Amino acid sequence: MGKRTAARAFAMALNCTAQEGLSGGDACGACSCCRRIASGLHPDVRVLEPAGKEFRIDQVRELCRELALRPYEGRYRVALLAGAERLNPHAANALLKALEEPPERTVIVLTAPQGADLLPTIVSRCRQLRFKPIAARHLAAILERAHGVPAEEAELIAAMAGGSVTRALAMRGAGWMERRRRLLAGLAGLAGSPPLRALVLAAEFSRGRAEIEDLLALCASWVRDLAVVRVEPERVWNRDLRAELEAAAGRLPEEFALRAWSAIRQAERRLAGNVNPRGILETLFLELAAAGARRATAA
Ligand SMILES: [Zn+2]
Repeated sequence: MGKRTAARAFAMALNCTAQEGLSGGDACGACSCCRRIASGLHPDVRVLEPAGKEFRIDQVRELCRELALRPYEGRYRVALLAGAERLNPHAANALLKALEEPPERTVIVLTAPQGADLLPTIVSRCRQLRFKPIAARHLAAILERAHGVPAEEAELIAAMAGGSVTRALAMRGAGWMERRRRLLAGLAGLAGSPPLRALVLAAEFSRGRAEIEDLLALCASWVRDLAVVRVEPERVWNRDLRAELEAAAGRLPEEFALRAWSAIRQAERRLAGNVNPRGILETLFLELAAAGARRATAA
């Protein structure tokens, strides 16, 4: 179960009308209260996401004002701050008092990839629950059954989403499969080709910071498959591209995958810093082009 799903289930357990008082049991999932929480329509359960790249201080202030009021109809008011790692210090400070002394019958839930992503002042005021990433095959099943993602696509995305349903769904924008095919074909053609080609590919794919993370995950899946296809071809993630992967693996120098892998990790680190996304892709693609050319220069 993902963090957001768990937070919703918690809100249901606190408010389920089929339960007498707080028995500590599970929510029924069927009463009007549970159903409205599940569909995001319950007035006492608020899910707050960043307005833009970060939570704004006025978003947090507004939430705190709301929390100070009594619940409309539920037993508890529940506020879920999804992606709390994107609370900047100002917004976080505005939240501290509510975290320290929450109004009566109020529960504030914060989700984040890891505790270390939050400010220490926040963490010290929260009770922590840790979640393991969802195994890729379970994630694929969730995507298929609960979100109607076609099987082949579900497997692919699951392999790349780092065990998070939220991330997987975000990765699956319109045209994702097509864009993925273009990128991976571009990568295959890139290795060993002149630098200009790397720059053209970077220009085509550098749309924005948010997307670069997915592109890097795609690049990593391709490089991983290049290494895997030599030894266990049936275990590649990009199954629809197996023939292309085999061809590329036969053509590229053996150390290519290793160099490409470290170039991708480097790109991820630079993305975490504040480097311009296009610059990150340019550097990465130039490195891939150079890594693929090795055999030609060595021969
Ligand atoms: Zn219920």
